Amino acid sequence: MDNSPSPVSQPVSQRRPALRITNTAAARGEIYQVSDLIVVLGDQLSVQGTALETAHREHDRVLMMEVEDESRIIPHHKHKIVLFLSAMRHFAAGLRADGWSVDYVKLDDPGNQGSFASEIARAVARHKPDRLVITHPGEYRVRHALKTAFPDLVEVADTRFIAPLETFQQWAEGRKSLRLEYFYRLLRRQTGLLMSDDRPEGGQWNYDADNRAPADPDQNFAPPKRFAPDAITRSVMDLVEARFGDHMGSAANFSWPVTRAEAQAALDDFITHRLPHFGATQDAMLTDEPFLNHSLISSSLNLGLLDPLEVCHRAKQAYLDGSAPLNAVEGFIRQVLGWREYVRGLYWHTMPAYQDRNALGANRPLPAFYWTGETELACLRAAISQTIAHGYAHHIQRLMITGTFALLIGADAKDVHEWYLAVYVDALEWVELPNTLGMSQFADGGMMASKPYAASGQYIKRMSNYCNGCRYKVSKRTGPDACPFNALYWDFVARHEDVLQANPRMGPVYRTWHRMDDAKQTALRASAADFLGGLA
Ligand code: FAD
Ligand code: SF4
Repeated sequence: MDNSPSPVSQPVSQRRPALRITNTAAARGEIYQVSDLIVVLGDQLSVQGTALETAHREHDRVLMMEVEDESRIIPHHKHKIVLFLSAMRHFAAGLRADGWSVDYVKLDDPGNQGSFASEIARAVARHKPDRLVITHPGEYRVRHALKTAFPDLVEVADTRFIAPLETFQQWAEGRKSLRLEYFYRLLRRQTGLLMSDDRPEGGQWNYDADNRAPADPDQNFAPPKRFAPDAITRSVMDLVEARFGDHMGSAANFSWPVTRAEAQAALDDFITHRLPHFGATQDAMLTDEPFLNHSLISSSLNLGLLDPLEVCHRAKQAYLDGSAPLNAVEGFIRQVLGWREYVRGLYWHTMPAYQDRNALGANRPLPAFYWTGETELACLRAAISQTIAHGYAHHIQRLMITGTFALLIGADAKDVHEWYLAVYVDALEWVELPNTLGMSQFADGGMMASKPYAASGQYIKRMSNYCNGCRYKVSKRTGPDACPFNALYWDFVARHEDVLQANPRMGPVYRTWHRMDDAKQTALRASAADFLGGLA
């Protein structure tokens, strides 16, 4: 199977010829302009950095398709389906206004056969293009299916990322561990972002130590800019409620940016109002404050409405202007330049084997309350309820609440992956899978994370106010009213001793476990077993 990266590092000018001479035309001594059918997928909504950049609107044609299979393969949150379809329809309208010829297949068009392959085949029959062209699809499954169905498909690099895939490939070559930190430093050097004379701005690569404060519940948080649906979005909302009524959430409160102009307004709003405080509260969680000082730009970045380098430069400028402190700006740039580029590189470096990793042998069904939020654990109720309401939870909620709980109970790694892929508006497999399987579930055996993100209720108490409104007592370790995270944590530690004991970062944890007397260990494991026995 061809898993090699496409020529993403090729300069745009070398990607494809502007004109080609076909054999028959050449034989006749004519110059013939090739007519391409350019397939634009739902997360390829930009001209810059995609196949559209070197295409010719006079004689090429764009194909965009809304296909049922992609909305059903996983039961995506209604906001996510509305976001994709509305952003696609707006993008197509913008292309048409710019003089492009766009063949747009709507979800409810008669004759729509519901899959990319069938719709591309129908479009090829309609238009008889000289070439079928696509930007490197972001998802392994889609890329593989299209390359198999259309062996002559011309693939153009997706240069909407800061690092070409080869940069990651070369960096990863021969390395035993693929930690973010060193890839991030490489990209800081290559881009010059927050660098002065090859040294990190302020003398440190990382200001995480300043970015672990809990949030003050009495503080006022600037609400993020939201966008009222226009006529296009409203018609998509109706369509989604009618066709995907049983999926998570309600289309009624949809307010995500669906155009580049809206995404830029959302970015402006973040840079002005929340970036200055981003660092300090980056890891904090508060009941009824789903967004805190986060940017909410992941869906716009992932669809192509914002460019990641542009975003990093905007943040850097805020630091240079003195409107945001270094710990906030470095913390933010680390996410976009570091984590986002790193997980994309890791995904293409390790797929398709990566998706089947399950290093801890986790096989428990994901509890039903992940789909409803109906649980007595206040932290999970908060994170899941806001996920249902908005298709959004911030990083620490994903990692340390829903992620840690799934890890501790041994939830099936694939179920967990599919849940994250379904419920977040920004969830595309290339970014979701490494975050879920690798960082959150330790299913890759430590390729991404140096130790599992397992924690007891004490971490949640420190970083949130969830425990104040919980029926469980975070201070108690065993018994029916003890915080379940506490016993589950020690049960996880004991259960995986054979795999994790040799991990140097787990040494202190195992020393504490072994210092406990038998009665204490037995009580903790019995308490965990009682809780697990009651999980549906
Ligand atoms: P901010 O907190 O404001 O961060 C700024 C930007 O940095 C984000 O918009 C995002 O583009 C980038 N970023 C931050 N952390 C990461 C990360 N770990 N990996 C990649 N990019 C990052 N992010 C997605 O875009 N799609 C996903 O499907 C996704 N699934 C996740 C699953 C799990 C289990 C975990 C732990 C994290 C996941 N993330 C995912 C990463 C992160 O949680 C989201 O990018 C972030 O919460 C989006 O909200 P925001 O835009 O307000 O981000
Ligand atoms: Fe979550 Fe435990 Fe706190 Fe309840 S007591 S909110 S279950 S950490």
